[in-house]
Amino acid sequence: MTDAPVLPLLGQGKKGLRIHDLVKAPANTPWAKAKQQSWDASEPATVYTTPEVLADGTPCSAVTVILRTKGCHWWWSSGCTFCGYFNDTRDDVTNEDLHAQWNAAKEKFDGFKDQAMVKVYTSGSLLEDREIPVAFQETVLRDCAELGKELIVESRCEQLTVEKLTWATSINNTFTVAIGLEAYDDEVLRFHVNKGFSTASWDRAVANLKKFNLRIKTYLMFKPPFMNEADALDHCVKWIGAVAEQSDEISVNPMNIQRGTVIDRLHRHNEYRPPWLWSLVDMIRRAHPLIHPHGGVNGDEGQVSRLIVHPTAGGKIRGSHNCGACDAEVVAAIERYAVSGSLLEFEGLTCECEAVWRAEVKLERHLPVPLGLSKPRRGSVVDRLRSP
Ligand code: SF4
Ligand SMILES: [Zn+2]
Repeated sequence: MTDAPVLPLLGQGKKGLRIHDLVKAPANTPWAKAKQQSWDASEPATVYTTPEVLADGTPCSAVTVILRTKGCHWWWSSGCTFCGYFNDTRDDVTNEDLHAQWNAAKEKFDGFKDQAMVKVYTSGSLLEDREIPVAFQETVLRDCAELGKELIVESRCEQLTVEKLTWATSINNTFTVAIGLEAYDDEVLRFHVNKGFSTASWDRAVANLKKFNLRIKTYLMFKPPFMNEADALDHCVKWIGAVAEQSDEISVNPMNIQRGTVIDRLHRHNEYRPPWLWSLVDMIRRAHPLIHPHGGVNGDEGQVSRLIVHPTAGGKIRGSHNCGACDAEVVAAIERYAVSGSLLEFEGLTCECEAVWRAEVKLERHLPVPLGLSKPRRGSVVDRLRSP
């Protein structure tokens, strides 16, 4: 027996510890503070255009306006394990600043005259009064209604009450709400993502959105922290099946590592490998019949939802990647699938590293270790062994 002091671990009859009590909140580190103060509050974080498709399937140009805001109220008290949005925020942004940012975005693209779709992202929820002044929420809703633009906004679930939606739809009655659900699984939401809401709150939010005939876009996260590649693959296909009927669009976000987050720590300690691009291809192949139960491609009869996969930082060490040689080709095929919805995009796609990926996934199914067996970095094995 030793007299060593008992460590204050979980499960000693006391209230469980929160992640933020265990990990120093990265938003408060000197480098994060300095970065936040460096932003100009009257300029949007970024404004750019991309090709998109409208709700009725018509191809169009979309403008994405990412505003510099106070960030997400969930982050202020806790925060999701992978979310690095705090890097882009300033806690003193005012209503006037937001209007200046919005006007700057409109000016940059001539009043959005060539864009039929406008995506307004706030590093949080547009319809959350603690984050975004109501007057500015109204400006965005009204401007897009008056300009006749298809509007997409992001929100957590708790803001999507009947009361809030009654108000919002009195100004603009045809927008899309994108919800970062991440996983249709309460354990994953709680222990892997630290999402701060449950699948039941998503169900409630969706029921409310349907009452007002608003479109629903659901974000799912591929490979949250503390999950191996095989589990990520199997879970994600299951979640797509669970949310497809209720979602007009499902956007699967393969994990990319953002600075100062919990997943960043794991990654730096070689305890997390971002997803393989081969896993994304396999996930799409398995989920395709759930989206197109009668076969076919995007736009065909019987399509249940639209599946979009966009590997942010695809091919980079901090994003989904393969061996390095085949990455660009595989990323391009995945992005083409998001538009066409055709599995033919993956026809003939092959590389030697596919066998390594397959072996890793197979091993993980036999030996389900939570942090996975994937090699944490690609590159020469000899170099890795030599590194200190
Ligand atoms: S709810 Fe969204 S914005 Fe807020 S911490 Fe989570 S991922 Fe980030
Ligand atoms: Zn390869």
